[in-house]
Amino acid sequence: MSYIVIDESKCKSCYLCINACPKKLIKAKEKPNNFGEYTAEFKDDKKECIACAKCALVCPDIAITKVVKE
Ligand code: SF4
Ligand code: SF4
Repeated sequence: MSYIVIDESKCKSCYLCINACPKKLIKAKEKPNNFGEYTAEFKDDKKECIACAKCALVCPDIAITKVVKE
């Protein structure tokens, strides 16, 4: 199963990645960070990431630091 790594410290909660993922594998966190923002996180569920990198390409803050294909 492939996966992505999101650097929470760089995420500005714009959610472009959530809309870009064809597999709907990214969501907003349920708890806010220290700045009150609900940053994006990779879902830990049974759907598989296809490592297409669409999420990383749309992120304006380069917060998705890794797209790992396994
Ligand atoms: S596109 Fe980048 S900055 Fe926007 S929510 Fe996703 S990871 Fe965060
Ligand atoms: S690499 Fe593709 S499938 Fe995986 S989380 Fe990003 S947009 Fe979704």
